This record gives sequence, structure tokens and C-alpha cells, in this order.
Amino acid sequence: MKKWITFDLDGTLMQNPFDAWIFPEVETLLSEELKYSCDAKKRLFHAHQQMLRNEQIVAAYDWDDLVRQLIQELGLTREIDIEALVVTHSVEPKVYLLDDTVIPALRRLKEEGYDLAAVTNGYYKYQYPVMKALGLTEWLDVIVTPERTGYAKPNIRMLDSLLSEGELVAHVGDRLDHDVTIANQLGVVSVLIHRDLPEELLGLSPKQRADHIGLGPVLEGLAARENPQLAGMRLPQSYQPNYVIRDLEELFHCLDIKKR
Ligand SMILES: [Mg+2]
Repeated sequence: MKKWITFDLDGTLMQNPFDAWIFPEVETLLSEELKYSCDAKKRLFHAHQQMLRNEQIVAAYDWDDLVRQLIQELGLTREIDIEALVVTHSVEPKVYLLDDTVIPALRRLKEEGYDLAAVTNGYYKYQYPVMKALGLTEWLDVIVTPERTGYAKPNIRMLDSLLSEGELVAHVGDRLDHDVTIANQLGVVSVLIHRDLPEELLGLSPKQRADHIGLGPVLEGLAARENPQLAGMRLPQSYQPNYVIRDLEELFHCLDIKKR
């Protein structure tokens, strides 16, 4: 019987190359051909957000298809291979781990007997090259992705195959709508990682932070960034994390870790 701990990737463990490298390159390629700036990054992100809002979550992360649609909208005929661009740009320091505690924490969890998996809404073909470059594939036993399972976070069906092999102890991630929500809906420990906590929360334990009034504005800010339509709205109960950590080292204050 496995004891899984699952991790989101982007914003939780690693920085992918899309924002800083791939979108700007797409922009350059298209603008050169058009002879004017087409604001590709903004348009792609807008299309992505729109699909998330329409609950087309699996499709929202198909960047090859989103770029193909943009090219068509612009009246161009060229092709851009996003998967190939990911491979090209998956080198440090273009991609990087989000802090120095990531690998030591994963190693320690493995030593403690946990089975670790990435649960990401990014497609395998875009995530694996980044994970490989950063040494994450060595520690994460399984990579769960939407195009392989047919489901995306926060749909709990995404974790069916992991759960058939064991129990899920906790899920760690940086998004309320996808990560905290999927954990809460499964009734497992939800751990929000947020590296920019306000001063008043820093001295508290991960559990105390989750219960502290000062977390309210942090959650509201995150929710509004994930979905601008949630700005000023009362947040769903499923957005409330059980623990709030600022790095992976603090995960050990959330789990009752015993050697098996
Ligand atoms: Mg994330």
C-alpha cells in the first residue's frame, strides 16, 4: 500500500520557460512575419484564461493548439512547434527550482518511505523536459497529467490511478482553484505553498497561518489572480488550505512523518 504525497509543478517546485522564453519567442516569430507587434503573449494568456473559465481545463493547457489557433486568427500559415521550443529552453538558468529546499525535501520524503508524484495541469511533453533538466524526475515516481488521464485539477478523477495503488497523504500546490480545491474535495491534507507571505504570518506555524485572519487577504489576492471574476467575492470553502508553507522544508511541520 503506497503512501502518496503529490506536488503541483509550476509555481510550486519549478519555473517553466513559457513566460520568459517561449511566449516572447512566439511573439518575435509572428511579429516578424506580420511586420507589426501582435501581442502574442497577452492573446495566448487571454485564450488560456477564457478556456479555464469555461471549464475546458484540459484543452486550456494545450499550448501547441492555442498557438495554432492564434496563427490562424492572424491569417498566417506558418507552424510553431511549442514542444520543441520547450526542449530548447529547458536549460538552467532559463528554468529553475523555486528554492533550495525542493530537492532536499523530496529526498527526505523518499527516505521516510513516501511515494511522490507530480500532479500537474501541464502536458507531459511540456513538463518532462523541464523536470529532467532540474533533476526532479529522479525524485518524483509518477507524473500525472491531464492529456494522459483525461481529467485536470481540480477534478478528483485525475487521481484515480494513484488512489488505486494507495492512500494520498497530502497535496501541495500554489493555486487555490486547482491544488487546494482538489485536496479538499478528496478530503486529504491541502498544503498551500506561497513564497511571499506577509510579515505577520511568517513567525507562525503552517497550521496557525491557515487559521490566522491575516491569511484572508492573501487568499483573496490569489483567487483574484487565478480568476479575476472572483475579485471581491466570498471565496468557496474548498479554497481554504489546511496548512500554509513558504518553502518545502516547512512541509515537515505539516506531516506526522514516521518511518514505515
Ligand atoms: Mg502551480
